[in-house]
Amino acid sequence: MPITRLTKPDSKFRLDDVSTDPPREASKQEAAERLRDLGKELLELQELMWGARTHSVLIVLQGRDAAGKDGAIKNVVGALNPRGVAVSSFGVPTKEEREHDFLWRIHRHAPRAGEFAIFNRSHYEDVLVVRVHDLAPKSLWSERYDHINDFEELLSEHGTIVIKFFLHISKKEQEKRLLEREEDPSTAWKLNVNDWKEREVWDEYTEAYEDVFRRCSTRHAPWHIVPADAKWYRNLVVAEAVAEAMRDHRDGWLKTLERNGRAGREEVEAYRRAKGIRHKG
Ligand code: ADP
Repeated sequence: MPITRLTKPDSKFRLDDVSTDPPREASKQEAAERLRDLGKELLELQELMWGARTHSVLIVLQGRDAAGKDGAIKNVVGALNPRGVAVSSFGVPTKEEREHDFLWRIHRHAPRAGEFAIFNRSHYEDVLVVRVHDLAPKSLWSERYDHINDFEELLSEHGTIVIKFFLHISKKEQEKRLLEREEDPSTAWKLNVNDWKEREVWDEYTEAYEDVFRRCSTRHAPWHIVPADAKWYRNLVVAEAVAEAMRDHRDGWLKTLERNGRAGREEVEAYRRAKGIRHKG
């Protein structure tokens, strides 16, 4: 499956070049089957990572309002053992948060070895909403791209697999979803006049996002631009990319587990020998 994955800075990247629709050849039924298989694989990879404790996963989800961040999170988390998963949502910073540097509130939610952290919005808001709405001087936010790259490199050096997703929806699809929310009492809690106000600065957000992708795409923390007008395809791309990033580590985790298992067995056997406990195997 073709995934738009940005692994290095590219000053020419344009969001309009990526479709918000699934590719024509993609089939909803096949996607459902593939998603079931990926769910099983993700759970198995999670168990290996949990046991090996050499790596962690950070999933960053960004997107415009109604792009489906909640739905994508539900889908990934649904496949995993909740024991090792933490979801953090980043809204308007509190007074205390504003009194620290922009990464302060983020860094403490980075995942521990063996675990998953999923960010619903993230440190990128500090070069998105902050830039579009002039919430900080340009001299301040323009330095943040480098800080972000350094921060993500630090996480990566510590064994964190950083996977970033932009859920790419069209303006038309967003309008449809916002209107649907008004019709459905179960989603009425999501109604927010701000979502409509943000539509007025759609193009400014496009520019801000493009600068993010142009400047903060690296091999150790790539951006994935996810066609998100169809929820089934969005879920498939996200699951596929997470599995792909983890799969590279599978053999290493197995080796670590075998090694640790051997060391653990030797310790147990030595203890039994010392105590004269006979193993009834
Ligand atoms: P969501 O829209 O993700 O479902 P909310 O309705 O709580 O969640 O919106 C969170 C709001 O917080 C968004 O409008 C977002 O732009 C804003 N926000 C997040 N981070 C920052 C930040 N660092 N500075 C200012 N606003 C922020």
